Amino acid sequence: MELFQGLTTAETLRRVSAQLGCSPASIKVAEYLDQHDELRPFREKFYIPKKADLSSSDPSLVDGTEECIYLVGNSLGLQPRAVRGYVEEQLQKWAKLGVQGHMEGPRPWVLAEEELEEAMAGIVGATLEEVALMNGLTVNLHLLMLSFYKPTAARHKVLLESKAFPSDHYAVESQIRLRGFDPEESMLMLSPRPGEETLRTEDILDVIEKEGDSIAVVMFSGVQYYTGQLFNMAAITEAGQRKGCYVGFDLAHAVGNAELKLHDWGVDFACWCSYKYLNSGAGGLAGAFIHQKHRDSIKPALTGWWGHKIKTRFTMDNVMDLRPGISGFRLSNQPILLVCSLQASLEIFSMTSMQALRRKSILLTGYLEHLIHLLFSQDPAQPHKPYIRIITPSDPEQRGCQLSLSFSIHIREVFQQLEKRGVACDLREPSVLRICPVPLYNSFTDIHRFIQTLGAVLAASSQSEKA
Ligand SMILES: *Cc1c(COP(=O)(O)O)cnc(C)c1O
Repeated sequence: MELFQGLTTAETLRRVSAQLGCSPASIKVAEYLDQHDELRPFREKFYIPKKADLSSSDPSLVDGTEECIYLVGNSLGLQPRAVRGYVEEQLQKWAKLGVQGHMEGPRPWVLAEEELEEAMAGIVGATLEEVALMNGLTVNLHLLMLSFYKPTAARHKVLLESKAFPSDHYAVESQIRLRGFDPEESMLMLSPRPGEETLRTEDILDVIEKEGDSIAVVMFSGVQYYTGQLFNMAAITEAGQRKGCYVGFDLAHAVGNAELKLHDWGVDFACWCSYKYLNSGAGGLAGAFIHQKHRDSIKPALTGWWGHKIKTRFTMDNVMDLRPGISGFRLSNQPILLVCSLQASLEIFSMTSMQALRRKSILLTGYLEHLIHLLFSQDPAQPHKPYIRIITPSDPEQRGCQLSLSFSIHIREVFQQLEKRGVACDLREPSVLRICPVPLYNSFTDIHRFIQTLGAVLAASSQSEKA
């Protein structure tokens, strides 16, 4: 957003509401911010589900023709409108050309995913050589761990978050077993301090400093899926490598959300999925990164024909001529239909920049935070009034677009009422809602509609509790 560049969100909102002569909670503020949002046209590039089409919404409570309030792009990004055309083009090509489609027409299949990798590399701050699109996220994590996790009696631990995403937890656990070690001893899991919800950078660095000699791999997420905390990847990488560890990141919730500089930070390896902020559709093509410095030293443990140099790949002489770096980790030819959906999304990213998205994101999420503080803070004068606490760090440098809201009441009922009114968000039992304003397609008005709906639902729930 060009708007008041360099100001904090609080200052921006103060100025806008003063200028308009209204409260920061007025719809006028949201509308003004939307009018001044240069990224606003991107919303038109996506399908926004209609309230009427969501089976969870209640026809008696919503105007079915209205777009739903979609705040769950951290779980599944929306469909870019261009996907269908690209998929149809490939179906036609297949119908018309059959096997010749491998080499001919738009997106020759042998090169399909590679044509997207420049855009992908830009989003994660890598060089083209450092990135490959392939497989699913957990598969890529395994492939990378097979090469980077080589435990010895002295150095056998993997450092990760105690509340790592289950798939990452299982992947690390099984890698440790595969190497003949015991997860009880080799999985070093870091928890927040008692009474705290997020990890302090100083504590992460401290554990690395103290235990680093026995740690083989530091495997963190870039953005924590539950709390929304954005970790200081540069500092973690530096600290881990100083102690002789490899440092890798799962960027599932960071890619397309935070500004990443994998190359400059010197990160050893990383992997990510593309169906969250990258909008490629469920099960979309995942990404993997190995830093250039390992180009000739780190080899894949498992190989396949797609890791063979392209020039001689189809000579079929069964003598492996491995591509360097992450490219040697490619196993199979990639599913072309998944390439299409990812292409449609990456083309949208290429029309803007992560810096521009991030500028809007900071204001959009800050606006959500501001309204929550304003309207739903704990009020000592009204002890029965439900209130909301934000678990996600308040420092914009330590979060992406998601806010994780913790409610003073059990929220299954609140969640269901929100769904009935056409809000799409995410519930984590017992009391956390994850709310995710995505700068590519969410508007300030979306946030305002969400806050109003939430206010109505909470007011109704405290009424019914009193009754
Ligand atoms: C979404 C997510 C996954 C999902 O893994 P898939 O292999 O894509 O099914 C794994 N790890 C993290 C941290 C995630 O956020």
